[in-house]
Amino acid sequence: MSTLIKTLLSCCILSTSTGFALAQEQVVNLYSARHYSTDEALYTGFTKATGIKINRVDADDAGILARLKAEGSASPADVILLVDAARLYKGETDGLFQPIQSKVLNEAIPAHLRSAASSNGGISWFGLSTRARVIVYNKIKVQKDDVDTYEELGDPKNKGKLCIRSGSHPYNLSLFGAITEHMGEEKAEAWLKGVVDNLARSPKGGDTDQIKAVASGECDIAVTNSYYLARMMRSTKPEDMAVVNKVGVVFPNQQSWGTHMNIAGGAVARHAKNPANAVRFLEYLASAEAQNYFANGNNEWPTVKGVNADNPALKAMTGNAPFKSETIPISAVGANVTKVQQMLDRVGFK
Ligand code: FE
Repeated sequence: MSTLIKTLLSCCILSTSTGFALAQEQVVNLYSARHYSTDEALYTGFTKATGIKINRVDADDAGILARLKAEGSASPADVILLVDAARLYKGETDGLFQPIQSKVLNEAIPAHLRSAASSNGGISWFGLSTRARVIVYNKIKVQKDDVDTYEELGDPKNKGKLCIRSGSHPYNLSLFGAITEHMGEEKAEAWLKGVVDNLARSPKGGDTDQIKAVASGECDIAVTNSYYLARMMRSTKPEDMAVVNKVGVVFPNQQSWGTHMNIAGGAVARHAKNPANAVRFLEYLASAEAQNYFANGNNEWPTVKGVNADNPALKAMTGNAPFKSETIPISAVGANVTKVQQMLDRVGFK
């Protein structure tokens, strides 16, 4: 082989292998509180579309925030997925995220489902799916009219009937934060007192346990995120089908401010080493294709304008009709959480 050819070959092999090595190095480190197996296909899809490999750490919302705090500037995290508005707000106010500048995300995600803009116009977090906090009830013992507002959960007519998970669980903190925004602090606290007075038992278990407790007769009314009920509606297990047959569901406050919607959302870590890849990942999750998958996989609704959920359980739950969702900025929910925690202490809501 001539020297020239050798040089050419070595040059090109070298550059190809260097190029390949660079492509190999494209990564995004994801800390995710979503643990739904259907999300896996999304991650694979992202890597296929972009060549960017995802390294994932799974933990719950609180665990992720604690870990980010502990790791500080040494944190390998680039992109964060959490499943509650108040936690996203907490991550923002604790300085764990960096503002995102993305025309794609700004245009795709409705303004009320993302953080308020920072001084430089950046957005700390974006909602990627929504879940309704709905009321379920025993169809035989309870009239739908008596439970079609959140207010009625605290009404003396429902004394001794209510099951709900711990007041300090993020889903309830966010619901109560929203209710405080709608009613004002004084009325919200009186309402919380009414809710405690109406409990059929001390708060325990998760949302699915509350639905089951209605079916078993331990209580007549319960509060749950919509996807837990949807999951049971899609289940083919006889015991789940029996539960679903006994309960009715209501999307509260259709005549007033609308049903409380919580979000699962994404943020870019403050100390991200691959911030551009992190933004690309969030933009990918906001694409129509990924949205349908992201939302549907956990029986949620997409947040991106113009993307409709094609989910049989959600259609059945809503009678395939649009329902009224609250339109307050979801960041207001997080801003009320400290107040809510103090109210919970005062009214003895465990
Ligand atoms: Fe959940």
